[in-house]
Amino acid sequence: MVVKINENYLKLKSSYLFVEVARREAEFIKENPDADIIKMGIGDVTKPLVPAVVEAFSKAVDEMGDADTFMGYGPEQGYEFLAKAIIENDYNKYGIDLDTSEVFISDGAKCDTGNIQEIFGIDNKIAVTDPVYTVYVDTNVMAGRTGEMQDDGMYEGLTYIKCNAENGFVPELPSEPVDIIYLCYPNNPTGTTLSRDQLKVFVDYAKENKALILFDAAYEVFISEDDVPHSIYEIEGAKEVAIEFKSFSKTAGFTGTRCAYTVVPKELVGYTEDGEEVQINPLWNRRQTTKFNGASYPVQRAAEATYSAEGQKQIKEVVDYYMANAKIIRESLSDIGLEVYGGVSSPYIWVKTPNDMDSWAFFDLLLNEANVIGTPGSGFGPSGEGYLRLTAFNTLENTKEAMDRISKLEF
Ligand SMILES: *Cc1c(COP(=O)(O)O)cnc(C)c1O
Repeated sequence: MVVKINENYLKLKSSYLFVEVARREAEFIKENPDADIIKMGIGDVTKPLVPAVVEAFSKAVDEMGDADTFMGYGPEQGYEFLAKAIIENDYNKYGIDLDTSEVFISDGAKCDTGNIQEIFGIDNKIAVTDPVYTVYVDTNVMAGRTGEMQDDGMYEGLTYIKCNAENGFVPELPSEPVDIIYLCYPNNPTGTTLSRDQLKVFVDYAKENKALILFDAAYEVFISEDDVPHSIYEIEGAKEVAIEFKSFSKTAGFTGTRCAYTVVPKELVGYTEDGEEVQINPLWNRRQTTKFNGASYPVQRAAEATYSAEGQKQIKEVVDYYMANAKIIRESLSDIGLEVYGGVSSPYIWVKTPNDMDSWAFFDLLLNEANVIGTPGSGFGPSGEGYLRLTAFNTLENTKEAMDRISKLEF
């Protein structure tokens, strides 16, 4: 007898993207120790938690230190107080009704979007947009829903829906039948959005084909366009076909604090081999109660505080700060003739490389000539080739300086 590993893990390509970015940066610094490098590849928020959140967080920590108010294990699904605040602020506001039993609070949308696939059968056909947030792909590889990665950078057995400038970054319906579709809007990495009508096409497809949409709305707070939905449930009938993921990470700077939630409506069903209808909500409930013991009480109090009047105002200031950076990036690059996408309802700006340069060549050019670091689009999937991602998470000063430097370059 020997220990056998899950060989699906061997199919995974090492996450070469950020390692390679760091390697090229280190090499550049070694040769140019005095260079003032500006990092525009940052995929993490940089502003601290707002005061209203810190206050609630710290009050809840004090409660934990007092015998009279100490809390042990909480509900695996999260506290009722937070689920209610979520429904009132993130759903009722948009005319969507939910029950607290449909909201599952967790410690992250990365875990939830990664774990959700395990309540679905192994032979479901999966579709992702390309470029993509790699969590959706890698977790399905680990589970054994794909073959090996092919020479074109795509895993065998997975359906990739191309999103590029040619189709205006609007994914087309999959050309082969699929069962589960991952959508992330506003999109990471492209920063582009779908309008209600464009999203409705997918909801209708799912209804017609008894398929399911896994909708990642982690960047919802950045939406500034009126026709962009804040939740997939704004689309009629979506409760029958979609699970939605949201996170306090980008919304309120919780990347290091950890709180998110997943909505699994009661209307949502899947099917057994025999074609019998099964409600999905109890499956996720069973998964979470078995494998998860809830997000911490202070963290959930901190998340609740993001919905107070003070919290909302303070969070908006932070979001406005990032979005002012995004606007500067978009306008500066457009002014020098570069094609830019995103950055209107998203902190990400997706830049088309000039002169058909490949992603890494443009990365090197910006690093060497402007000492600015972006993220090569090719790292997010084959359709990301020929693009570079910049983010609005640096300071206003650095963002302006980076744009000044890039504006002086000749392409
Ligand atoms: C940042 C991000 C998340 C949030 O993940 P957390 O685990 O909640 O921090 C989810 N989806 C996408 C696409 C993201 O970029």
